[in-house]
Amino acid sequence: MSIAVIAPGRDRSKWIAYFERADPSINVEIWPDIQEPEKVQCALVWKHPIGELLKYPNLKFIACMGAGVDHIIQDPKLPKGVPITKVVDDQLSKDMSIYVIQGILNNQRRFVDHLHARERGEWLNSHRYPEKMNIGILGLGVLGQDVASKLVTLGFDAFGFSQTKKEVIGVSCFWGKDQMAEFLNSINVLVCMLPLVDQTRGFLNKDLFARLNKGTYLINVARGEHLVDEDLIAAIDEGQISGALLDVFHEEPLPKDHPFWSREEIMITPHNASVTDPKSVARQIVDNYHRIETAEPFKFVIDREKGY
Ligand code: NDP
Repeated sequence: MSIAVIAPGRDRSKWIAYFERADPSINVEIWPDIQEPEKVQCALVWKHPIGELLKYPNLKFIACMGAGVDHIIQDPKLPKGVPITKVVDDQLSKDMSIYVIQGILNNQRRFVDHLHARERGEWLNSHRYPEKMNIGILGLGVLGQDVASKLVTLGFDAFGFSQTKKEVIGVSCFWGKDQMAEFLNSINVLVCMLPLVDQTRGFLNKDLFARLNKGTYLINVARGEHLVDEDLIAAIDEGQISGALLDVFHEEPLPKDHPFWSREEIMITPHNASVTDPKSVARQIVDNYHRIETAEPFKFVIDREKGY
């Protein structure tokens, strides 16, 4: 029996070493050189080729290499009934929280403006900065709750929005369509941490921006497809959105001629807000793999109906 690592274009060699460390008795095969497909019980995947997972008749679970499973769910030829797991990892949450908090602080203290001012040899008089920053976390899941809690510890007012009711100490939690307006009215920084599903594609659009307080700052660390790019540019031109920090894009790397590159108000990072640590994730997958023998329920299974 074996684990197959199916992640085209990614450095897969280190996964073998980490699985070896976690449990040397496990046989690991690396796509596309999989010798015995009928022995594969777990497929560890990142952006696998469409239909590839149908080739493994004894698959017991599909393990996503990251927290966002959209690239798996989007495969129309996914084997039916096979559970899908995602990564839930303290380090992944911590890295994401640090990224978001750094983005908020950069914006609050205008570090980027100071960098540009330095290039011009200009002493930028900006002793005043917004005292009140109300941070709205759109998508109060594993990662969103961690950021929100850490923001509270730092003394920010944190607000969260989710589909279903959540309780996070110190965070004002809103849920469901009826509470959306109150959530949007309460904040002046919006952080998108939604999963990518049909209902959330294009969620960050002109209608949503119009409902925000004027000058709201946007951070998108979820997926590029959540954002309607031209609506963001228009909202910045109108002053409705003051600027944005974007880590994810429709096309990655972001094409050289994309209008975002020419906008000083938009900060761009190369989808590195939080990157899976193979060492700790290999342990988590091995733990689930052993559950096949003991018939215990897998950990971190997503809801295939909901898509996250
Ligand atoms: P979770 O599945 O744990 O949480 C998702 C949250 O979004 C839940 O609170 C859910 O609400 C809420 N939600 C879902 N649909 C809606 C909706 N239509 N309206 C409002 N809220 C909604 O996800 P994670 O926190 O683990 O990850 C979030 C995303 O972060 C991933 O999907 C991935 O795309 C992205 N990511 C980005 C990384 C990067 O480096 N940039 C790294 C890792 C992840 P409820 O629980 O009530 O259903």
